Amino acid sequence: MISIKSKREIELLKIAGNIVYKTHQHLIPFLKEGITTKELDKIAEDFIRSQGATPSFKGYQGFPGSICISINNQVVHGIPGKRKLKNGDIVSIDIGACFKGYHGDSAWTHPVGDISEEKRYLLEHTKNALFAGLSQIKPGNRIGDIGAAVEQYAKLHKLGVVEELVGHGVGSHLHEDPEVPNFGAPNTGPILKEGMVIAVEPMLNLGTKDIYMLDDDWTIETADGKPSAHFEHTVVVTKDGYQILTGE
Ligand code: MG
Ligand code: MG
Repeated sequence: MISIKSKREIELLKIAGNIVYKTHQHLIPFLKEGITTKELDKIAEDFIRSQGATPSFKGYQGFPGSICISINNQVVHGIPGKRKLKNGDIVSIDIGACFKGYHGDSAWTHPVGDISEEKRYLLEHTKNALFAGLSQIKPGNRIGDIGAAVEQYAKLHKLGVVEELVGHGVGSHLHEDPEVPNFGAPNTGPILKEGMVIAVEPMLNLGTKDIYMLDDDWTIETADGKPSAHFEHTVVVTKDGYQILTGE
């Protein structure tokens, strides 16, 4: 069931989303060669808690970290650990924060130092694909319009669209209905209504769309070893469009 959020719920979702945004901003200066992903996880967790929130992912279905950190060919759900960032890496940071029972969820992929031209291309166009999807959000449009726009943009730029992982509703649960795929046909799926809150999150690959899961049962990597990027915002459907809850 897709819930319509009350004014009060939307206020709490805005606060949670803003904490997620500020945590991303707080982390950016630390994304340098030599830092371990575990250190980044600690910095993020401490910041989230300093804002009166808790990290949504910690313990979620047993996830051991506070945030997800996925490097290069890792698509999503990377577990923070001893690995150090290196110059030329791209690092996907996915953050969830829960404030008074309501969640925000947002992911960004960042360069570490100087990155290759093809990685820069991937980052630019994955971010653009997110906004192509978001541009479809208004009451009366459908979930399929979002995925179709993301897919069309990605295909135009010859990027692989991960299909096994999708966006989702957000509220008092981190993952709610509806599913928001990054592919599909226009004018299909649930109708968007004012007060729905959803996370749109394209995961695009420089190579093929194929992925697999590591033995740690979390980390998703590209099958061909090529880099992957992930951009995500949580948004509320408004009277005539949408408002980003995890942005400035
Ligand atoms: Mg996320
Ligand atoms: Mg999400």
